[in-house]
Amino acid sequence: MKVLVVPSSVNDAGVGDDQFLISYIINDTIAIDAGCLGFFRPALGQTPVRHVFISHTHIDHVASLPIFLENCYDGNPDCVTLHASKTVVDGLQKDMFNGRIWPDFIGMSSPSTPFMKVNLIESGESIEIDGVKITVISVDHLIPTVGYIIEDGTSTVIIPSDTGPTEEIWRIARHKQNVKGVFLEAAFPNSMSFLAKLSKHLTPAGFEIELEKMPRGTRFIAIHIKSRWRDEVIGELNALDHPHLEIGEFGKTYEF
Ligand SMILES: [Zn+2]
Ligand SMILES: [Zn+2]
Repeated sequence: MKVLVVPSSVNDAGVGDDQFLISYIINDTIAIDAGCLGFFRPALGQTPVRHVFISHTHIDHVASLPIFLENCYDGNPDCVTLHASKTVVDGLQKDMFNGRIWPDFIGMSSPSTPFMKVNLIESGESIEIDGVKITVISVDHLIPTVGYIIEDGTSTVIIPSDTGPTEEIWRIARHKQNVKGVFLEAAFPNSMSFLAKLSKHLTPAGFEIELEKMPRGTRFIAIHIKSRWRDEVIGELNALDHPHLEIGEFGKTYEF
């Protein structure tokens, strides 16, 4: 399985060292979140992505969704499918595709010339696409949010999305075979644990507690580090001196 961590910042030399926005691309055709999906590559380079799963409506996970859908629109009934909970779809239509921030691509999608198809998903459900099975599990964030267990028969990858301390996704993931990688957030430094608790994110200390909920030896990749405190968070993660913990890289395609 290929997992590309879509880059979301640039510097003078190319891909920047910050992750302002969140998107992953699985095997070229499936995206998890659309924070930066629509800002990446030339427009036609985005069109191989045919399925977009949205974990929750926070802007760092949906910011580029309108641009991505515009870039992919070709008037063909075989359009992009948006997979999201009813809460997320309702939120997107009310607050993003509302005719003011952006045209109502959901309401405007006629069967003959759709901008997107909508597939409502619920926690506990599994969807199979292009040989990949994606299981949706609710996690514990400030607003309703789901994480994903992604399996291709050879490898299993876990993307819990934004979450504070959580249980259900680990309970299910512990029984999966061949868990090759977990992309787990480490948003705030330990000194800001009050804010992590309030916003239901993780600090490095919280990251370590979650990490221990999976079998020893599971590879954890730290992502979603708030740019303002990036050096501090990375220092604290490195200080854990955990042999299976690494810092996520942007623009990199992980192969599992
Ligand atoms: Zn969030
Ligand atoms: Zn986020």
